[in-house]
Amino acid sequence: CFYDDKLKEKVLLEMDICNSMQQALDDKEFVMYLQPKVNLENQKIVGAEALTRWIRKDGRMMFPDQFIPLFEKNGFIITLDFYIYECACKTIRKWMDDKIEPVTISVNVSRVHLNTDGFVDKVLRLVEKYEIPHKYFEFELTESIFLDNTEIALSTMRRLREEDFFVSIDDFGAGYSSLNLLKDMATDVLKLDKEFFRKGEMQKEEKIIVSSITNMAKQLEMKVLSEGVETEAQSDFLKEIACDMAQGYLYAKPMPEAEFTQMLKENR
Ligand code: C2E
Ligand code: MG
Ligand code: MG
Repeated sequence: CFYDDKLKEKVLLEMDICNSMQQALDDKEFVMYLQPKVNLENQKIVGAEALTRWIRKDGRMMFPDQFIPLFEKNGFIITLDFYIYECACKTIRKWMDDKIEPVTISVNVSRVHLNTDGFVDKVLRLVEKYEIPHKYFEFELTESIFLDNTEIALSTMRRLREEDFFVSIDDFGAGYSSLNLLKDMATDVLKLDKEFFRKGEMQKEEKIIVSSITNMAKQLEMKVLSEGVETEAQSDFLKEIACDMAQGYLYAKPMPEAEFTQMLKENR
């Protein structure tokens, strides 16, 4: 057994996060960033994904990978997710009041919600409070959620869709691609995982897989969005295979809400 400074650092960082999370929420240190989703055909913004950033008092920005796994362990993710859903509601409400035609905002759903009662009812109460038409709200459930909790994930998805919310399957292709489950997952959007586009130049094999999944999803009447698009070559290829939408640094990085709103206004 060897002592390692890195281990100590990790434990201290985790303790710091757990001790400060509630105060950070009260102090509005968690901020909703929005990343545009674009229509590949005409490059227009057709939606946004809400992604959380934690901006600490000293100005340091923390990314979700540093705190979400911990919040999923200690349960705080339930509070944080609903806080971000509320930020999304406020933004859509503001667009409507300011006569800016809203685009759908998608939010991420942690697997932890599926083990709690009344997730969908709580969502309904929230959107009703801000009088948000359901078509402006989309829920992203990762592929892996479906593999771990198939029945409960499918029924949550079904209920959300019955309420006219959009639902997408996030990170598709990252895990044990549940091709078999696709037939039961009547979903609106399939989000292809960014790993397919990570290396810049796409290999022949990757292109075959991406175009086949796109083809299959479209025949199953789902829209396809590619995540993590970073180059023009990838964008051209996706247009060629009739992928519907894309999200990635090529178009824009996640940004504060005010910046996104400005972009949305100019886009039109
Ligand atoms: P995700 O939902 O798959 O979100 C996409 C991630 O890809 C984001 O990372 C985004 O910043 C990143 N990304 C976008 N375009 C590109 C690109 O062109 N290249 C590369 N390399 N990356 C790109 P981020 O913001 O660090 O979030 C990581 C994950 O954390 C998200 O993955 C999501 O699963 C989770 N997450 C973020 N915010 C929340 C939240 O409020 N609640 C929950 N439950 N999960 C969240
Ligand atoms: Mg997502
Ligand atoms: Mg994803």
